[in-house]
Amino acid sequence: MEYRDLARYPFLKEATQFVKERQLGLEDLVSSTFAAEARRRGKARVLTALSDLTVPNGPVTSEEEAAQEVLSYPYARLLVSCIGDEALVRRYALAEAKAFNERLRRDDMGTVIMLAGELGVEAALAGDSLRMHFTDFLGYTSGLRGPEWKLVNQDLRRGYVLLEKARFVRVLEQALDERIEDELPLPVNDELLEAVRGDLAEVAAALEAYKERYRDEGFGEVSILKFPPCMRKLVAMAQAGQNMPHAGRFALTSFLSFIGMPVDDIIGLFSGSPDFDRSKTEYQVRHITGDGAGKRYTPPECATMRTNGLCFEPDELCNGRRVRHPLTYYRIRSHEKDGEGKGARPS
Ligand code: SF4
Repeated sequence: MEYRDLARYPFLKEATQFVKERQLGLEDLVSSTFAAEARRRGKARVLTALSDLTVPNGPVTSEEEAAQEVLSYPYARLLVSCIGDEALVRRYALAEAKAFNERLRRDDMGTVIMLAGELGVEAALAGDSLRMHFTDFLGYTSGLRGPEWKLVNQDLRRGYVLLEKARFVRVLEQALDERIEDELPLPVNDELLEAVRGDLAEVAAALEAYKERYRDEGFGEVSILKFPPCMRKLVAMAQAGQNMPHAGRFALTSFLSFIGMPVDDIIGLFSGSPDFDRSKTEYQVRHITGDGAGKRYTPPECATMRTNGLCFEPDELCNGRRVRHPLTYYRIRSHEKDGEGKGARPS
């Protein structure tokens, strides 16, 4: 691979080899003057993961710059490991995986196949599509919601799932996300902690600010006037006792749970349904919301809502490109100054 590509995919074995050939070890990474730029870029990887859920594309115009960019990756992992915070690991892994998706989508099929192999996914061309074994597909899509990720809805041939490039890369994004989450935090010793102390303080402060932002941003008092059109419609359907597709119930329940509606209120909302079965509804709602103990499901993003036919009458805010998720819509409305609609409740 060209050095520029190694800089874009620094987790590759070849990228590690590229750095090894320059005889740079961990000690050099944390203390040498040569690696100062790599440390700066590595810290930026973690900071922008926290602030924007992305990692910067550092400029690479020479092999030396490529080495700095490749080294920024282990340095970022080192910082994340030194902090050892679960939320930071998750956020950082997701940001790296999303950046990887952005980059790989623009590359050719050959590169996609090669990168898939590096992530342990055996891939091959199948006409205009790419194929992977159904066990890989199932393994990496279990966390993806929506019918488009169900195995029964795939083009399945002799045990292989055929996917167009963007969807194939989306699965690889999951694979990288899981890999980074599994790998981190790495064990670190006191010497390392001491060597990166300055940068650690900065990352720790950013992490605290990130957590604070989410605590502060919260969703405040539940107000239906801040709801996106899709959720208003689903609430109206529930209140009118209309039958709602399973995907609609899932979207509404997870959305209401995320914005802070108590589980009992959510269950009550469905009580007008003609086939209301309290214990069944309670089981489903508690499963989706995690009910304080289990996994809490995130509401589907707008693309999935559209696929499921649940994106009802998107308004100006929806169409203004800022909204890709119903929760984003709610957050934006919640922070509008006039506080319109505060206090109203959907039930
Ligand atoms: S664009 Fe998104 S937020 Fe707006 S109605 Fe559709 S699914 Fe809901």
